[in-house]
Parts: sequence; C-alpha cells; structure tokens
Amino acid sequence: MTIRPFLPPTRTLMGPGPSDVHPRVLQAMARPTIGHMDPEFIGMMDEIKKLLQHAFRTKNKMTMVVSGPGSAGMETCFVNLLEPGDKVVVCRNGVFGGRMKENVERCGGIPIMVEEEWGRAVDPDKVEGSLKNNPDARFLAFVHAETSTGALSDVRRLVQVAHAHGCLTIVDAVTSLGGVPLDVDGWRIDAVYSGSQKCLSCTPGLSPVSFNERAMEIVRKRRKKVQSWFLDLNLVSQYWEGGAQRVYHHTAPINALYGLHEALVILQEEGLENAWERHSRNHRMLRDGLGALGLAFCVPEEERIPHLNAVAIPAGTEDGPTRKRMLEEFGLEIGAGLGPMAGKIWRIGLMGHSSNPKNVTYCLSVLKTVLG
Ligand code: PLP
Repeated sequence: MTIRPFLPPTRTLMGPGPSDVHPRVLQAMARPTIGHMDPEFIGMMDEIKKLLQHAFRTKNKMTMVVSGPGSAGMETCFVNLLEPGDKVVVCRNGVFGGRMKENVERCGGIPIMVEEEWGRAVDPDKVEGSLKNNPDARFLAFVHAETSTGALSDVRRLVQVAHAHGCLTIVDAVTSLGGVPLDVDGWRIDAVYSGSQKCLSCTPGLSPVSFNERAMEIVRKRRKKVQSWFLDLNLVSQYWEGGAQRVYHHTAPINALYGLHEALVILQEEGLENAWERHSRNHRMLRDGLGALGLAFCVPEEERIPHLNAVAIPAGTEDGPTRKRMLEEFGLEIGAGLGPMAGKIWRIGLMGHSSNPKNVTYCLSVLKTVLG
C-alpha cells in the first residue's frame, strides 16, 4: 500500500473551533525550526508573553502558554490550585462546566455544583446562594463562553460574588479571548485559561494561561506537590519566566509558537476593541439572515456569545445528513450539538479569521439551499 502525503480539502470553518487559520499564521509556522533554547527563540517567547498580557488585559507575571490544547490549560488551573479536600463551587450550564467538575474530582477536591439550564448564562444569584451555604469553599470555577450551548456569562459579576465570599476564581476563556470583552486585571480574575484555535485563529494545541499573584501564592505554598509534573507551574515557570536564564523543562512546540506569535501580532494590529466589534457586527448580520430563514436561536439575545450561534434544527430536517451535505458539496463546516443538545441544535461559529461578511453570506446561502 502506498500512502501519499495528506492534502486537506478546502473548507470554510464555521463550527465551534477550530476556526479558519489566518494565512499569515500558516506561513509563520512554515518558517525554519530553531532550537528552543536559542536566544532568538527565547526572545520570541518573551514577546508572546507580552502579546498575551495585552490580549488578556493583564500585567500578571505568570502569563504563559501551556504546550497542549485548551483542556491542558483547564487542567493546569485545577492541578496547581487545588489540594485534596478543597471545596470548589463549579457552575455547569453546558459540557465544559462538567469537565471542570471532573477536574475537581480528579484533584481530590469536592465540587459543589450550581446547575443552570443549558443555553442560559450562569446566574450570579444562584452562585451567591451556593457560596453562602458553603462558607468553606475556596474557589469558584465557571466558563465565560460556554461553547456547547452558545451562552455567555457575566464574568465581572461572578468574580465580584466569589471575592465577596473569600473565594478565588478559575475562569474558562477558551472561546471568549479575542472575541468578546475580557479584562483579567480589571475584573480581578485569579486564574484564567484559553485556547489557540478559536478567536485567535491559530492552529489548535496551545493554551494561554494567566495567574495573578494571589493564585501564584497558593501554588508556591502548596502542602503537596502538584500531581502533574508536566503542568506544575512551579517548574514550568522557570521555562517561561526565566529570560536568558531559562531552565529546560520540556521542548516547546516551536513552530506552533511561531504561529501563536503571528496570531497575537495580527490581533494587536487590528486592536482588541476592533476585534470585539467585528465579532459583534458579523453576529448581527448572521442573526438577521438566520431569522429570515426562520431559524430560531437557543439563547436569549442578551446572553449570547456573538461568535457561537446556537440555533434549533428546524423540524423535519435531519441533522447528520444535512451537515454532511454542507461539508461535502459546499466545503462548509458547522457544528453539531453536544451531549443532551445533540441532534437538536447547530452551532455556527464566526470566530477570529472566520468572522467576516463573506462567510456570513456564504453560510446563509448554503443553509438556504440545503433547507430547501
Ligand atoms: N473549554 C471550552 C469552553 C471549549 O470550548 C473547549 C473546546 O472547545 C475546551 C475548553 C477544550 O479545549 P481543547 O479542545 O482545545 O482541549
């Protein structure tokens, strides 16, 4: 059997991620690999850190990239901050809140669940009630933009509630970073993680994280070693914070980091606020077009993620065969529902480089065709 080089088909990515990767990012990734301890590479890592501080709106010294996907960023937060027996209030309004619960349990922590209807934002009053009932809780964990349902929660308010009850916050910003306002220092988020493949339009597999001093104090003063050697910030920080004195920890994914560097430069060139506005503008255009096609949104307007549009699959339309046709005939990928939403909703992403009027028009015309 002769296996030939893999040539991916041309696609337009309008699902829940990855989004279309910017051509400049792909070009950057094709540049020659250099050593990860090369002073030139170390200089680039320092620039990534500065660019990420800008994107997250933080001065946190501990701002770096985990060499792994968003799930590794999630795990980095939980394994570093939690010790066995710690109580964590976890908000679940979709799949990823459930993953947070799983992380708490695997760290030997005790998750206290605040359940919310899927498709709705987390309710700060319910969180407040849970924190009152659990005065010994140490952390509040929640997802900013719940990709599985399209609901956006009010981070600023949730962090205020947590801090009023003496809890630190762990925030999932995988789908929000670069697409909607996120202000790590202004909102006083303690630990946050994101992903490279959504609104940053880089390839998947990298997870930017940021911890403030309060959170790092906990990491430094742990009673027990972090259970994961690879994700232990006490060790990996010497790689990301060491400057010229950098200590080898693991071999960074060199070319992937070239790509992230380029993606963050592109974001800086556009301007954060302009990027948020673009995501919102294209959402409004898509929203109006979907409305004209008779497709109903699953999330109330004021709680929607602008770049992840969850709509109910119209009665009488088959989910799988319709999306298959969109992919095969039109090269257009949209997302299926996850968990209990499977077969009921579609998730149409307008993230990063994919968020443009051309894609909106294309998606609407394809939907019109396949829905007859
Ligand atoms: N958190 C959220 C909100 C996500 O949407 C995702 C992925 O879609 C993840 C975490 C996990 O990221 P990854 O698939 O890069 O591991």
